Amino acid sequence: MSVELTTAGIVASLGVLFGLNFIGLFVAAYALDRTSGHIVWYLAATVAFIVSGVAFLLSSLTPLTAPFLIIDDLFTGAGFALLGVGFARAFALDIPWRAMAAWMSVGLVLVPALALIGELALTRLIPVSVWHAVAPTVIGLVLWRAPEGRTIMRVLGAFVLVAALAVLVRPAFSVLITANPALDHARQVEIYGALVSIPFLVAMFGIAAGVFFHVMSDLAHGYRNASITDALTGLLNRRGFLDAAAEQIATPAHLIMVDIDRFKTINDGHGHDAGDRVLVAVAAIIARAAPRPHLSGRLGGEEFAIIAQRTETATARALAQSLRSAIAIELDGVVAEGVSVTASLGVAPIVDRDVASALIDADRALYAAKRAGRNAVRTAPDQVASPERRRGSRAG
Ligand code: GH3
Ligand code: MG
Ligand code: MG
Repeated sequence: MSVELTTAGIVASLGVLFGLNFIGLFVAAYALDRTSGHIVWYLAATVAFIVSGVAFLLSSLTPLTAPFLIIDDLFTGAGFALLGVGFARAFALDIPWRAMAAWMSVGLVLVPALALIGELALTRLIPVSVWHAVAPTVIGLVLWRAPEGRTIMRVLGAFVLVAALAVLVRPAFSVLITANPALDHARQVEIYGALVSIPFLVAMFGIAAGVFFHVMSDLAHGYRNASITDALTGLLNRRGFLDAAAEQIATPAHLIMVDIDRFKTINDGHGHDAGDRVLVAVAAIIARAAPRPHLSGRLGGEEFAIIAQRTETATARALAQSLRSAIAIELDGVVAEGVSVTASLGVAPIVDRDVASALIDADRALYAAKRAGRNAVRTAPDQVASPERRRGSRAG
């Protein structure tokens, strides 16, 4: 037996090599984030496509043409099915398991039954190509037409549809090549193999690159989110708050600082868990009272900050007052029966988008509120008591 690497063989080898390359990339991505189950399906799909590429190579290098063609065709089908499951998991789409099983069963009968007819016979190529094309056509259309579809879904959908097309044109290539009487059968098979592999590989490369881009950008997004989010309360952490403040101030804006009163005694008297419950409850009140476009974050410990966007001083003070009273009312009993929790607040205008100065001013106002007996709101620059405080509550 003479072993000769044909053009088709070279193209298929390139496909196998690039598949192996993507295996490495997907394994690395999965090692970085083991919660991303869809990567495992992408890995399985890549392995299936590699198996089909190797089988295609062996079908021309060994006399076992028919068995290797069967493996090639079935694993190409399996690759599409696994890829589809990966996409469904990644984009939270429903998986039609029954339809997939039915489609795979058709292939399991069709492909071996037609394998002996010969590589270029239309009676084999047309049914097998149509069978292959069903999966990428459905997957591609679902991705392309997904409501509220993201750009990445459209890009992936387009490449998957190109793969479907690359599979569907196979019989046409066969007709073109077998029409040339100057070529002997071996030459025809070689040219056919090269011609059908190239568009298929282009589509597969696009899919793999798109999938890899999506996996990596999700990963980066996850890390970025974790780095700016406070794990206990879900609010922005100090870094996230200051980063957002640096770019998203809509003037006139005010900074409100919230510090829980005598928090240390809650921790000391009722345990750290009770303290954590208070932090979570206060954060929930803040998130509810100051939704986007306002910004809110936990600066550290039992200290929170809010940027009230497009607010005049009176509105910012009213917001601070409503937070103060919501905390006093809603935290009653969160620590234990009969234990009340209060907070003191400082309000400062943000002048010229200078958040650092506003933090100092709001902190000063906050300490004026503490000195005034706590459960109070004070406003910088001169730490005036907020009008609502004078009407009614303690320490006004
Ligand atoms: P003041 O009314 O003057 O603000 O008194 P305070 O006790 O609230 O202030 P202090 O700064 O003395 O104490 C803050 C406490 O917050 C000390 C620290 O143990 C506690 N703390 C900081 N971070 C956490 C946390 O994540 N969970 C809990 N449970 N406690 C925390
Ligand atoms: Mg405190
Ligand atoms: Mg404090």
